[in-house]
Amino acid sequence: MPATHMRPHAIAGMITRLNDPRYARWAAQIHRTGGCRQPIHLRGRVDHIDRATGELLHSYSTRHEPDGVLRLPCKTRRASRCPTCAETYRADTYQLIRAGLVGGKGVPATVTAHPCLFVTLTAPSFGTVHARREKDGKILPCHARRDAPTCPHGKVMSCTARHSADDPRLGEPLCPDCYDYAGSVLFNAVSPKLWQRFTDALRRRFAKSEGLTLRELRQHLTISFAKVAEYQRRGVVHFHAVIRLDGPAGPAASPPAWATVEALTEAVEHAVHAVSFTVPATVDDPARVLRWGDQLDVRPITMDGGLSDQAVAGYIAKYATKAAECVSTLDRRLSPLDDLAALPLREHARRLIAECFRLGELGELADLRLIHWAHMLGFRGHFSTRSRHYSITLGDIRADRTAFVRDEAATTGRLPLFDEDTVLVIAEWEYAGKGYSAGDALLAAALTGTALPVLAAGGGGDAG
Ligand SMILES: [Zn+2]
Ligand SMILES: [Zn+2]
Ligand SMILES: [Zn+2]
Repeated sequence: MPATHMRPHAIAGMITRLNDPRYARWAAQIHRTGGCRQPIHLRGRVDHIDRATGELLHSYSTRHEPDGVLRLPCKTRRASRCPTCAETYRADTYQLIRAGLVGGKGVPATVTAHPCLFVTLTAPSFGTVHARREKDGKILPCHARRDAPTCPHGKVMSCTARHSADDPRLGEPLCPDCYDYAGSVLFNAVSPKLWQRFTDALRRRFAKSEGLTLRELRQHLTISFAKVAEYQRRGVVHFHAVIRLDGPAGPAASPPAWATVEALTEAVEHAVHAVSFTVPATVDDPARVLRWGDQLDVRPITMDGGLSDQAVAGYIAKYATKAAECVSTLDRRLSPLDDLAALPLREHARRLIAECFRLGELGELADLRLIHWAHMLGFRGHFSTRSRHYSITLGDIRADRTAFVRDEAATTGRLPLFDEDTVLVIAEWEYAGKGYSAGDALLAAALTGTALPVLAAGGGGDAG
């Protein structure tokens, strides 16, 4: 156990908790959060009332719980904030992506016959960066150029290093002063709009090739998506997406005969190149047109030896729990008042954040809210999104789990079994903080077998 976790007040807090007569109840709460690093504290009560007679059948209040609160898992998707809850999120995402590929969880298995692609849309280049390149299992030099040009800042645009996979220089520009930092953060900021335009262009392409209006197309075809954003090392997002063709009613209906894998591939290639987004001119910079990068990866998802449904679901689920990797230790909102120089960041990330602050001050770009999203390097979209018809939702999976917990509580006698039609449930809850005190954090880690959270000096969380 690191010495920083053994401060005297943490040990004193731990001893107080262990000697608390309600320690067993506290420990049971902690077990139920499953090792959440920053449990949410709720204060409140639930009354079960007989609808016919008005009789109070059962009452629960957190007044009798340790510290007067109920502790629930935080349910974050971000592994950097809570590894345990992020793992739950990852597993749930895996299930729903997979259900959209092979059926299950209410999606019929006939969905396997629908044309389906795994598509990666990338960002364009904003300058040469250090890269790890491999060919036939051999690591190649980064950017070896015999007649490498020298940039205006006197840097030779060549790097002969064979970078290891964990080389911190990966993704960093050969010359930071040549790098287009504005382009990088603006691309992140408009990428959700580019995605929207891409999906619109797909529909228009199908409509045009079949001689239909968009309204008529909807009576034949639904295009279903599930996508996830991934940060490349250089700090720009790209998107991995499952794109599937369904009939008008979604996965339960067959798509029309003309909606083939080949037709979808052609439409994707067309739509990626057809769309752009224009960022308005500012006092400092002219207007610029942003598009997807040239690197487009389109692969059919097949049930027989090609790209498998498990591989695709695993890939999307993995990225759904990540934040911007090059700022991952700084997974929180920033303000222009923060001293960027004092933050634990590499220079490349610092410059990307500084560029968000600079551009965010410009009235013409106010809509992009770049200051608000500086910690995400400008990206303000949802990390993983699905169209309405793709498959079940995370909410459905969570409702399953809540029902399970309730049934489990009923069968073990902690909650009486009521008929939901005849009983009125009145619940009142309020947020009462989150996280652990320093002493509780030590105990919780021991109880749940999880890693200790990194505690800020003076104690953890805003428990209380
Ligand atoms: Zn958690
Ligand atoms: Zn290099
Ligand atoms: Zn330069």
